[in-house]
Amino acid sequence: MDHNTDGERFVRLRLEKVGWFNIRANRPVPDADEIDEVILKKEPTGEWYVSLVVEVDEAPEKPALSEIEPTDCVGVDLGITSYIHTSDNLAVGTLGLSDEYERLRREQRNLSRKQHGSNNWEQQRQRVAKANRKIKRKVQDFQHKLTTWLVTEYDLVAVEDLDVKPMLETSQNAKNKQDAAWSRFLELLEYKANLHGTHVVSVEPAGTTKECASCGVATDKPLWVREHSCPACGHTQDRDLNAAKNILSRGLKQVGEGRSEVTPMQTALPASSPQREAVDAKRVVELGSLGT
Ligand SMILES: [Zn+2]
Repeated sequence: MDHNTDGERFVRLRLEKVGWFNIRANRPVPDADEIDEVILKKEPTGEWYVSLVVEVDEAPEKPALSEIEPTDCVGVDLGITSYIHTSDNLAVGTLGLSDEYERLRREQRNLSRKQHGSNNWEQQRQRVAKANRKIKRKVQDFQHKLTTWLVTEYDLVAVEDLDVKPMLETSQNAKNKQDAAWSRFLELLEYKANLHGTHVVSVEPAGTTKECASCGVATDKPLWVREHSCPACGHTQDRDLNAAKNILSRGLKQVGEGRSEVTPMQTALPASSPQREAVDAKRVVELGSLGT
């Protein structure tokens, strides 16, 4: 197999015995002789995807925990009003996807009116898949940018351990949670942290919102109370910023207490990223079911 690539976005790819393809790349394309395996997959939208599997150089070493400056550490609260809020008081807004969801609902309604299995139905089914894909791509793009920024800006990123974080309080949050795809975000964060030599520390999430970042006294606050106002010490702060600071201090405490407990972190590769094991050189594997 072979390809020529002038820009990063559009690439011509030649597969032996198959021929040339124009592909749109969503990341830089490696040189042909670095590619170990090519995986073709047909998506429900009817489009074909090409995954190029390469061996990756050894990831950079993470800095020694004892040598990391506190200013190179950050706590990240995965929030409700903002997508993330950092302990450095950076709030990143939630993606506005209401138009995209509106379109998806419209296409789904249209699909339900078509006769199942007819040509019109099949065409409409692809429109639904495309509307879905558009949302997925926007979320992924956003998450890639955010996680890359975090792992390049900081040496240590403390986050809540969402495996033990209870589902949020209101029903709307089930959808919000899905939009935000938090667990995918954390997976990406861990994955990129490993690539960039950055530590990720997962901390106990219980009480991060209630606790005062200044004095540690816990106070209940309902979801709609956006400001932390401590009855014990008088400290006042944005709710999410207060939580992010608690997450950071828990992370630092965890690191300081028992380094062996903190590392190794659970390493999660994004589901879409090719595994490195199967490296039968120049092998073309065809996945996915034709015609569905
Ligand atoms: Zn306080």
